[in-house]
Amino acid sequence: MELSGHYFPPGRSQRLDGILCVDAAGSWIVMGDRRLACDLRAAEVSERVARMPRSLTFADGGRFDTQDERLDEALIVAGHARASGLVHRLENRWLWALLALALTPALVFGLMHYGFPLIAKPLSAVVPPAAVSALDAHILEILDDHLLTPSELDDSHRERAARVLAQIDSQGEYRLLIRKGGALGANALALPAGALIVTDELLEQVEQDGELLAVLAHEIGHVRERHSVRQILQTAGVALTLSGLFGDLNGVTDTLLVSLPTVLQQLAYSRDFEREADAHALRVLAEQGVSAGCYASILGKLEASQSGAKETDGSYAFLSSHPGTAERVGATGSAAQECGRVAKPD
Ligand SMILES: [Zn+2]
Repeated sequence: MELSGHYFPPGRSQRLDGILCVDAAGSWIVMGDRRLACDLRAAEVSERVARMPRSLTFADGGRFDTQDERLDEALIVAGHARASGLVHRLENRWLWALLALALTPALVFGLMHYGFPLIAKPLSAVVPPAAVSALDAHILEILDDHLLTPSELDDSHRERAARVLAQIDSQGEYRLLIRKGGALGANALALPAGALIVTDELLEQVEQDGELLAVLAHEIGHVRERHSVRQILQTAGVALTLSGLFGDLNGVTDTLLVSLPTVLQQLAYSRDFEREADAHALRVLAEQGVSAGCYASILGKLEASQSGAKETDGSYAFLSSHPGTAERVGATGSAAQECGRVAKPD
């Protein structure tokens, strides 16, 4: 190996540009066409101090200064007495590297569970609406290509769904999409910008408007709290961290958005998100003068229709954590109530 630096001949204040050449056979300093043998093994070596050049002082008083970072390596190649110490230091560095590697899963876990959810909320508020709409279109395309098929229901079901949505969406902010659910079964899910997908299978289960109202209000709760945007930001944060750690930034966004499992995973919300959507649904029901029993009623039906199919499909969207939701709704006493109209608050 070759290290460039400056040679100071013994007893003179001259400074010459030189290259220190080291291999297993020995070492030399080359200056122009001069070639000076030197005994690197016996040289005194200065310690590394920040970015200062390090000096090798030879037995005859000559000195070679270099800033080359590979000086320690050169000493090992030459068999310098300090080399064993250096190897030890390098091993130490490896121990640290291994320790860091061992801690990585803990770090990733911490970021996933505490870090990203924390930053995703404020971040989701500043994601431009155009980007969110683009996400809707993209996710819908994937779902339509792979999972959903056109609705086969007659108009009476569609009209009912449109009428119920209009009751709680006077501004027309939400777009209702009815599809045959297939593997999703009786289900509903909200896309980031406010498209609400409801399956034929779900609409067939609905007996009273209040039940559908409860489902739509729950999904609107997810949109209002920007749950899917937050979920995607969290997933993106995790993917970016992993790729940063393992050095592959290529195609992170592609991986995130193109694969169906990822999309579905993003639409399966955490329990906290479900709780927020539940709270919104119950608030809307109260405002509309509909008993909370309608929520319990539709959840019961959906659970019954999905049980058995659940594990094979993975856990999706509306039903992702609904045994839990049913319990929570039950805890409010609503399960004991009939689904029907109650007096509106003033
Ligand atoms: Zn939900």
